Amino acid sequence: MSNTSQKSSWSYASAPENTDHIVLKEQYDLFINGEFIKPDSKKYFKSINPATGEVIASISEANKKDVDFAVASARKAFASWSKIEPKERAKYIFRIARMIQERAKEFAIIESIDGGKPIRESRDVDIPLAASHFFYYAGWADKLEYAFPNKTPKPLGVAGQIIPWNFPLLMAAWKIAPAIACGNTVVLKPAETTSLTALKLAEVIKESGLPKGVVNIVTGAGKTGSEIVNHPDIDKIAFTGSTQVGKLIQNSIVGTQKKSTLELGGKGANIIFEDAAIDQAVEGIINAIFFNQGHVCCAGSRLFVQESVAGSVIDKLKDRMSSLIVGDPLDKNTDIGAINSKEQLETIKKYIKVGKEEGGEIYQPTCNLPSKGNWCPPTLFLNVSQSHTIVQEEIFGPVLAIQTFRTIDEVIEKANNTPFGLSAGVWTEKGAKIFKLTQELNAGVVWANTYNKFDSTSPFGGYKESGFGREGGLHGLISYLNVE
Ligand code: NDP
Repeated sequence: MSNTSQKSSWSYASAPENTDHIVLKEQYDLFINGEFIKPDSKKYFKSINPATGEVIASISEANKKDVDFAVASARKAFASWSKIEPKERAKYIFRIARMIQERAKEFAIIESIDGGKPIRESRDVDIPLAASHFFYYAGWADKLEYAFPNKTPKPLGVAGQIIPWNFPLLMAAWKIAPAIACGNTVVLKPAETTSLTALKLAEVIKESGLPKGVVNIVTGAGKTGSEIVNHPDIDKIAFTGSTQVGKLIQNSIVGTQKKSTLELGGKGANIIFEDAAIDQAVEGIINAIFFNQGHVCCAGSRLFVQESVAGSVIDKLKDRMSSLIVGDPLDKNTDIGAINSKEQLETIKKYIKVGKEEGGEIYQPTCNLPSKGNWCPPTLFLNVSQSHTIVQEEIFGPVLAIQTFRTIDEVIEKANNTPFGLSAGVWTEKGAKIFKLTQELNAGVVWANTYNKFDSTSPFGGYKESGFGREGGLHGLISYLNVE
């Protein structure tokens, strides 16, 4: 049956997640020194549901005074938190992990309402991985001397942590769990458009009995972030976000004693060899670029297909794209949810326009997009080359640029021809090819016959303009310790 006829004769009945039990406040305050407190600024901004345009809640905008208070609370807490028995630290972190698991459904629904991602992803990926990060680093808390034999690892002090909007709770977990497991204290700022699950996490942290001031969560926009970065009493900055802001941060801490880890943008190469299992590879391409609407720093946004199989891969890919369901993030059938913000949708549209103007051949399946909210159909471009803007720049949306190659050396050269170095994927049945590519691709993560697989035990991070430092696994501890 052709896909068109499949589409006309089959459609899924909607399967919306029940939201009756979700309790959200109209207004959220800052979480400082173990309490929710009103911002000194007295200012609040709105968090918008990107699928409907409706206001979900008002969020506090922290100013310099609020950040000062958060840093002072973290500094005070550091004195005792860094000294308590490591196994006591672990108990709190294990408790936070279990509480996230207990409230997993609530977290998943709020993540999808606030950020636009399909409930299937927040339920099966974001929230379980966030809990897993707390479990994993809780396990390390009393074993740091085994992680670094013959050394005396010491915490750094107060960590300022700034996270983006694409994986809000997961990024908070990536930052907070290793930091506090190592005995540091934290001031964390979530992204402006997606603060809600971090604030829900603050509720969990309060309920867990974690000593006051160990974790402080201050909401706000870029200005609040720069107050954290420039605060003289911060010992370490951990940032995930755009390369542009990463460069600003790097410049502003030059000459200070602050340590930093930066996890920035990417333009991942996903490489399909002619000997790959083609149907699995097509699923892998879909997952690599359309997972989380393409709002993924390690997305496989550049596809390289070996010329001999390009025709069949592209036909199968188009067919599969036409069966993707775009729409309500809370519907369990949805594959592609809402674009996180109006601004990001404008950015994506701008890149699609540039792609067409520069001669790219666009394909978008027909989709019934909802009338309200921010939506972009899955999109691919053919007839593009290395110099095209959409091949060079990070789009951060569901837009794939496809090129072909003939030889292994050609594809290595093309894949490495980018300012970024975060991720890549290789699809082949030959182990030797996998080993050659993993050695020669300049990427922090190379997946073989899979893509976008994350695990708390495994380090993640980039080269070149994708930043430096590793999060996850044993490597993630080094970023929060003086190991001497
Ligand atoms: P940003 O880098 O601007 O935002 C990331 C975080 O940094 C947010 O919490 C943001 O706050 C904060 N921030 C912004 N300016 C400053 C500053 N001067 N000092 C300290 N903190 C600051 O990403 P955007 O949200 O603007 O997205 C822009 C582009 O960045 C995307 O299109 C995408 O290409 C890329 N991106 C990459 C990510 C990745 O994981 N690699 C993640 C997110 C974006 P606020 O949200 O309040 O502005």
